[in-house]
Amino acid sequence: MSEFDPAAQPADPPWTCPFCPLLCDTFGVDLGPPGTPLKLVGSDCPRARTALAAFDGSPPTAQPQVDGRDCDLDTALAAAASLLAASRQPLFGGLGTDVAGARALYALACETGAICDPAQGQAMMHGLRALQDRGGFTTTLAEVRTRAELIVCMTADPTARYPEFFRRCGIGERDDVHAEMLPMHGDLFDTVALLAAIVAGRIPPGDDRVPAGLAALSMRLRASRYSVLVYEPGRLPAQGALIIEAIQRIVATLNRSTRAASLSLGGGDGAATVNQVFAWLSGLPLRSRAGPLGLEHEPLCFDAGRLLADGAVDTLLWVSSYGSEPAPPQAGMPRIVLGHPGLRPRNGAASAHQQVFIPVATPGIGTDGHLFRTDGSVLLPLRALYEDGLPNVGDVLRRLTQSVKSLKQGRVQ
Ligand code: SF4
Repeated sequence: MSEFDPAAQPADPPWTCPFCPLLCDTFGVDLGPPGTPLKLVGSDCPRARTALAAFDGSPPTAQPQVDGRDCDLDTALAAAASLLAASRQPLFGGLGTDVAGARALYALACETGAICDPAQGQAMMHGLRALQDRGGFTTTLAEVRTRAELIVCMTADPTARYPEFFRRCGIGERDDVHAEMLPMHGDLFDTVALLAAIVAGRIPPGDDRVPAGLAALSMRLRASRYSVLVYEPGRLPAQGALIIEAIQRIVATLNRSTRAASLSLGGGDGAATVNQVFAWLSGLPLRSRAGPLGLEHEPLCFDAGRLLADGAVDTLLWVSSYGSEPAPPQAGMPRIVLGHPGLRPRNGAASAHQQVFIPVATPGIGTDGHLFRTDGSVLLPLRALYEDGLPNVGDVLRRLTQSVKSLKQGRVQ
């Protein structure tokens, strides 16, 4: 039976939930006595409840490890620095951190010439590709909540992955807003292209080729004073940038006579935040490298999965501070993991390559931090709920960068 009590007030608001890119900031957390799983207050969001249950308010027992053996932080940092200093081409993956962690990650990437790709890199590249090629009209959650009349979900029901999405849009609170799913006609490429043609008047809604559902939707879009087309890049197939470009065509057409915008739901686990930080520090998004040829951006070649499969990298640094997912791949190469204590390898797990694990604090649980929300223009502070005694990613990476520099300088002296 659900323990959700809609009348309950947040125990200690405001708390900003870091577990999906909606970054809800009106709920609270019941800490309970140390050793009991944290509980969400004010919402029954299953994603947040599951994530909070991985923390229990007591200092974690996970220690750093080198090759499956517990050690102190200095020993783990020394081993990680040796691996990175010896690497000819490191790969930084996962990238589950916050603004401060991303800044430190960028410095280490420059020092080592690492390629950086987040855990959901392909989904992120769909949106970046469309933005680079065509640009786009986007909006914020606040504007959707106060102004939107019609919300069209272009990929799937957003609440499956973003459970509070409709509540954040004011659905159920305002009478003059409603949401609907895109009626499919063939695959998503066909459906969105056909809708774009109808909205633009290239095909009349009454044409025999036009299914009734799409015809009716096109008329509602043209009549609405403010429509928002919502999509999840993570649900798009290969070449999904083409679908986002078609969505932007619909939005641009509507904006000639009424008002419309798009809203992308994605970039969780810190991916959008790290991308923003890398873009403002380097001018380039992720899937980039500061290497011997200067700054390089390769949206296809710098795909982490492809690089690992091709053996094009020789050391993996994986960062995942929000939970035990996304987990690092079995890379068949030296691996350094900066992660939630749940990612700690089992003692004695054998590997042919050196493995370093450093448990780190989770922004919004064991340490303060900052994350960008899914709408891209809103940066929210995260507040620690309790002192967990773990180092944060930024501190670990800054020490790692210093150690790598020292090792390299020692070699040239
Ligand atoms: S919808 Fe996302 S941000 Fe909001 S409470 Fe759930 S997991 Fe947290």
